[in-house]
Amino acid sequence: MGVVRTILKQLFLKPATNKFPAKYAPASTIQFLDKVTKGELKLIPPIPVPPKFRGKIAYDRDKCSGCKLCVKICPTRAVEFLPEEKKVKIFISRCCFCAQCVDICPVDALAMTDEFLLSTYDKYADELVLK
Ligand code: SF4
Ligand code: SF4
Repeated sequence: MGVVRTILKQLFLKPATNKFPAKYAPASTIQFLDKVTKGELKLIPPIPVPPKFRGKIAYDRDKCSGCKLCVKICPTRAVEFLPEEKKVKIFISRCCFCAQCVDICPVDALAMTDEFLLSTYDKYADELVLK
């Protein structure tokens, strides 16, 4: 009986989440976003990400000394060495967000950010390849 009561209660509650991902909304959701703009629909504010959240990597090319430690430690081979420039290229689509490269970098050229809206149809899109 408890389960039935819970299900019935849920039927009448408002959703606790927003449609996702708004950043890459396809044409079919434009109507939805239009309603938000006009104030006919309210978006639920996103909760802040927790401290030490591991989102998209940030790469400071100027700081990078080309030591290759991040290339060696990366378990998913997301980091490629560019020998001519002595810098690295990072493919975010291959990254599993383990942060091992960040921990091992001797010059703090790498950092984890709180950016998590990374969905795209093109895994080699400019914003997903750092160099
Ligand atoms: S966070 Fe992990 S998987 Fe991603 S590039 Fe760094 S070492 Fe590789
Ligand atoms: S570990 Fe740091 S300094 Fe070394 S190649 Fe990677 S980003 Fe550059």
